[in-house]
Amino acid sequence: MSRQFGHIDPDHPAPTRLSRAALRRILGWMRPYRRVIFVNMCLSLVLTSAELTVPLLLQRAIDGVVGAVKSAAAAPGAAERAAVRAAAWHELAWLIGGFMGLFLVMAVVRRFEIYRVTVYAQRFMYATRQRFFRHLQRLSLRFYDHWKSGQLIARGTADMDALQETIAWAPSHILSAGLLILGAGAAMLWKDRVLFCAVFPILPLLWLLTRRFRLRATDAWRQVRLQTGRLTANVAESIAGARVIQAFSREQRNMEQFGSLTGQLYETRVETQRVHARYMMGLRSIWTSAQVIVVLVGAWRIAATSGLPAGQGRVTAGAVAAFLAYVAMFFRPMDMLTNIYSQLLHALAGADRIIEVLDAEPEIVDRPGAVGPPDFRGEVAFDHVTFSYIDGTVVLRDVSFRVRPGEVIALVGPTGAGKTTVCRLIARFYEAQHGCVRIDDRDVRDITQSALHHRMGIVLQENFLFAGTVMDNIRYGRPDATAEEVRRCARRIGSQAAIEALPQGYDTQVGERGGSLSAGQRQLICFTRAMLADPRILILDEATSSVDTETELKVQEALRRLTEQRTCFIVAHRLSTVRRADRVLVIEGGRLTEEGTHGELLAEGGRYAAMYEEFIRSE
Ligand code: ADP
Repeated sequence: MSRQFGHIDPDHPAPTRLSRAALRRILGWMRPYRRVIFVNMCLSLVLTSAELTVPLLLQRAIDGVVGAVKSAAAAPGAAERAAVRAAAWHELAWLIGGFMGLFLVMAVVRRFEIYRVTVYAQRFMYATRQRFFRHLQRLSLRFYDHWKSGQLIARGTADMDALQETIAWAPSHILSAGLLILGAGAAMLWKDRVLFCAVFPILPLLWLLTRRFRLRATDAWRQVRLQTGRLTANVAESIAGARVIQAFSREQRNMEQFGSLTGQLYETRVETQRVHARYMMGLRSIWTSAQVIVVLVGAWRIAATSGLPAGQGRVTAGAVAAFLAYVAMFFRPMDMLTNIYSQLLHALAGADRIIEVLDAEPEIVDRPGAVGPPDFRGEVAFDHVTFSYIDGTVVLRDVSFRVRPGEVIALVGPTGAGKTTVCRLIARFYEAQHGCVRIDDRDVRDITQSALHHRMGIVLQENFLFAGTVMDNIRYGRPDATAEEVRRCARRIGSQAAIEALPQGYDTQVGERGGSLSAGQRQLICFTRAMLADPRILILDEATSSVDTETELKVQEALRRLTEQRTCFIVAHRLSTVRRADRVLVIEGGRLTEEGTHGELLAEGGRYAAMYEEFIRSE
C-alpha cells in the first residue's frame, strides 16, 4: 500500500512483530538474485550434509580403537596381537585421512561460499542504496517539510547496514540451521530410539523458551531501532545548527538532551543483550540436561547390551559418542537461529523504515501529456491562486497577477506574508490547490519538471554552496561549461576580481555549505552560478545578511546585470532593489494588496508608502 507522506509520522515505530510486508518487499528485491541465492544455498546444503556425516566417522574411529584394544588383549600370541594392532592403526590412519580430507573440502567450500555471499550482498546493497537515493531525489519539498534530515540519514545508512548482514547470510543460515536440526533429529531417531525417547520429553521446554525469547527480543529490537533513529536525527540537527547552538549558549541543554537519548539507547541495547543472554542460559541448561541424560542412559545401555553380539542390538561407546555429537548438532543451530531471528528483527525493522520512505509518493509528478518546450518567453501569471501547506491553513488567498517576459518584479511584504510561497509555486515545488500558475500561457502542471527547472534559476537567501571548488560550484547548473565560459561569465557579472582574490582563485575549496567564504563572496558566487545557467526566469530571495559597503556595491551591480533580459522575481529586502524593479507586488497576509512601480505605489499613499516611510525612518 502506498502512503502519502503528509500522513506519515516520521518517528513511527516499527511493528511489534516480524513485519510480513517488509519481508515480502525484501524478498521482491532479492528476486533478481534468486539464481545466486540458490547456488549459495546449495553450497550450504553440501556443507551441512558433510557436517552430518562427521559423527558417523567419529563412531567408526572410537569403536575401531576400542575393538582393536579388546581384540589385541584377547589375541593368543604376540604376533597376532601385533597384527591386530597394525590393522587397527591402519584403519585409524584411513579415518584420520578421511576426517582431514572432509575438513579440507569443507574449508574450501566454506571459503567459496563466503566469497560468493559477500559479492551478492554488496550487489544487493548497491542496488538498494541506489533505489533509496533515486527515490529521495524524486520526492517533493512537502516530503522534506515533514522529515528531519537525520531521520533520513539514519534510514539511508544504519538501517541499510542492518539489512546487509541479514540479506547476505539469512537464507543460507536458515537453510543450514533447519537442515542440521532436522538431520540431527532424524539421525538421533535412527541411531538409538531408546536414547531419543529419553531426550524427547525436554523438547517442549525448548519450545517454551524460544517463544518467550522471540516476544521479548522483538520488543527490545524495535526500541533499539526507534532510539537509534532519534539519536541520529539529534546528531544531524546539532551539526546543522551548530552556530545557532553556540550563539544561544545551548551547549549544556543540548548535551543533556543527547545524554538522555544515548542513555536510553544504552539501556535498550543492554536489554537486548540481557534477553539474549537469558535465552542462551536457558538453552545451555536444556542442552546440558540432554547431554547428561544421553551419557547416563547411554552408559546404562552400553552395560545392558554388552553381552549381545556386535550388530545385534549391542550399543557401543562410539554410538553413544555419535549420539552426543548429534545432540550438539541439534542444539547449536538453535542458537544460530535465535541470532538470525534477532538480526532479522533488526533488519526488518530497518527495512520497514526504508520502505516507509520508498512508499512516500512524490506529490508532484509530470502529467501524462506534459510538454517540455526547449525555451520560454518568460511570461508568468497567477490566476486566482489559493494555496496551503497544511490543510485548513491558507497561506495564499486568491492571488492573481501577470508578468511580462523580461520584467523584474520585487515582492515585498511583512515576514510570513507569503512571498517565498509565491516563488515556490512558480518553480512548482508545490502545487496550488485552487487556481493556476501559468508560464507562457501554459499551466505549469502541463510542463515537464525537467524543462521547467532547466529554464528557471533559483538563488536562495542562504546561498547554498556544495563542498568543492568555486569553479565546481559555479558550474553546478551547467557542468559542461568550460573554464573560459565561467571566467567570461564572472567578468560579465563583475565577480571576477572577487573570485581571483581568493587564496586559490577558482580552485579555492569553499568548505561545506561555503563555510570558508564570507557572505558577500558566497552571494557573488551564487549570482555567477545563476548567470552561467542563463535561466529565462530567475527567482531570487535577496540575502538579508549585511556585507561591507564595497562588497555591497559589487553585489548590487552583479544583481543588476543578472536581472537583465530575464523575468525576475526578487523577494526584496533592499530599497535599491525595490526602486530598480519594473514593478512591485505587495503581499500581505497571503493576499496581493498593491501592485505598481515604486513611484506609483508611493504616490498612491497606501500600505507600500507606509512601509517605505517606516523603512526610511529605520535606516
Ligand atoms: P515570506 O516569504 O513572506 O516571509 P512564506 O511564504 O515563507 O513568507 O510563508 C508564508 C506562511 O506559510 C508563513 O505563515 C509560514 O509559516 C508558512 N509556511 C512557509 N513554509 C511552510 C512549510 N514548508 N510548511 C508549512 N507552513 C509553511
